[in-house]
Amino acid sequence: MVSKIVPATALLLSLALPVAGQAKPKYGYSGDIAPEKWGKLSPEYAACGIGTSQAPLNIVTAKTVKDANSQPLKPDYIPGPAEITNTGNGIKVQLKGDLKIGSADYKLLEFHFHAPGEEAIDGVHYPLNAHLVHADSAGNLRVIGVNLKVGAPNAYLESVWNKLPTNKGGSVKVNLPSLAGLLPSSLAYYTYSGSLTTPPCTEGVQFFILKEPVTISTNQLETFVKLYPINARPVQPLNGRVIKSSN
Ligand SMILES: [Zn+2]
Repeated sequence: MVSKIVPATALLLSLALPVAGQAKPKYGYSGDIAPEKWGKLSPEYAACGIGTSQAPLNIVTAKTVKDANSQPLKPDYIPGPAEITNTGNGIKVQLKGDLKIGSADYKLLEFHFHAPGEEAIDGVHYPLNAHLVHADSAGNLRVIGVNLKVGAPNAYLESVWNKLPTNKGGSVKVNLPSLAGLLPSSLAYYTYSGSLTTPPCTEGVQFFILKEPVTISTNQLETFVKLYPINARPVQPLNGRVIKSSN
């Protein structure tokens, strides 16, 4: 019998591997890993299948409730270093920024895109949307949704698209202008409690979907759609939730 001596470093490495390799189960937008299957892909994705406050939603504007006490969104975004990642399911940009909603403070974590736009307004999806993800110190998530329609080129997006890593898994460090450049002039919104729209579909995420869209040129839209023709989760059941409308 040949006893094999395993060097300590190799042993450590092999012990470490299951942890290091503990990648989240792969999800996607078609076939065996399509959104309808997410809840069954992994126990940690269960909320995707059995959650009752899931996102995105179709916002039926006639059924929204005007909230006289709605808190204005006060973003304080600054130019600075950012990292653009082609995640394999979309494009994510990590950068710093602040958001105040009422007296509560949130930090910008990242923003990313969905084609077509995930939230529908009266059943209609925009060709693209951006989700700007923020968290408070307790980890409560607040997402601002910006819808993009075809029109004039979007100068802010150009600064991102210029540097876009086209290889899946690729990332690049850049300096970006203030994300305020992606926002419309009005920050009036529809708001509801939903979930992450990707696995693990965690609930308790408050969405602020801006009513006013911004524009993107056909070429800019094409740039994204060439990489990701569809990376949007279908709209989810409302289950009695009320969508509020800001002033
Ligand atoms: Zn999103």
